[in-house]
Amino acid sequence: MLASLFIRKERNILGVLEKFSRVALCHQPTPLERMPRLSKSLNRPNLWIKRDDCTGLATGGNKTRKLEFLMAAALDAGADMIVTQGAIQSNHVRQTAAASCKLGLECHALLERRVPDRDENYETTGNVFLDNLFGTSIEYRPAGLDMNEEAIKVAEKFKQAGRKPYFIPGGGSNEIGALGYVACAEELIQQMDEQGLNPKWIVFGTGSTGTQAGLVAGFHALGCNVPIMGISVRKPQQVQIDNVFALAQKTAALICDKPLTDKGKILVDDNYVGPGYGIPTNATIEACELIARQEGILLDLVYAGKGLAGLIGLIKQGKLGDDGDVVFIHTGGSVSLFAYEDQFKSI
Ligand SMILES: *Cc1c(COP(=O)(O)O)cnc(C)c1O
Repeated sequence: MLASLFIRKERNILGVLEKFSRVALCHQPTPLERMPRLSKSLNRPNLWIKRDDCTGLATGGNKTRKLEFLMAAALDAGADMIVTQGAIQSNHVRQTAAASCKLGLECHALLERRVPDRDENYETTGNVFLDNLFGTSIEYRPAGLDMNEEAIKVAEKFKQAGRKPYFIPGGGSNEIGALGYVACAEELIQQMDEQGLNPKWIVFGTGSTGTQAGLVAGFHALGCNVPIMGISVRKPQQVQIDNVFALAQKTAALICDKPLTDKGKILVDDNYVGPGYGIPTNATIEACELIARQEGILLDLVYAGKGLAGLIGLIKQGKLGDDGDVVFIHTGGSVSLFAYEDQFKSI
């Protein structure tokens, strides 16, 4: 009942999202700003940042946009609780936990011990601390299981016990969640227009694929041809391209009649993953320190730090050219910095 207070009516600027249920969770539009000092220090003018770390809910991040559609679907289904999953320091779980509180639902999360050899405080600080603050019930899993399958099994148990669970996949990455980044595509197109940008590239960290799939589907539906480059934080290039493409096609089918057929639109660079998910490289840490000291902006070492390391690497290789606007999407996550303090040896 109360949830109807949050239903969004005023958005959907360009109209492709009108038919979908949506709850208001997100501060938007998020700012699109210049990074003059970072540009200067990298000797590459016209670097911009889209501040999706400023989506507002529980310190923000990209999952909040997805949750506007996912949580609306949960309410439509009559759910009384959310079941979801992620790595221990999942930003998705933290934002889902907060959204659940805001809408009066319980949240149950499965956390995977995906990252090896972490500090003792890795399982108590940062996102885990906030999950607990939001009253999330948590169970743990060892690395390497099919976590969505595990979470579906747990949701089934709750159902048998008389509850009404709604399952949200890891990262909120299905075609409902990806609609959040269709909304971001609309927002970006409007901002680029208003602020007179004509970007040559859009760059960010890609993981569970919903962000990139939604942006690609949105740009496809809205006829925007700016190349979208995902810097992989986990998977090899070809696997990530296939996964993003599959979800982008499903998402495009929801919002427009024109099928998405050009796999060449999915651009992924996997040169910045390093040893694996959640393990920073020197380039990740340097990128994080550089933007902190040049612009006063906080990244994390799991996603956005690798995304910016990718942007810096592409600039150094001359792949982004000498001029023209480049937009880095800050997808959030700085809360997990506290789980990685040991990595900053120079501080
Ligand atoms: C989840 C996440 C990403 C990756 O987005 P996907 O939609 O999962 O690809 C990037 N940055 C941060 C901070 C995230 O939490």
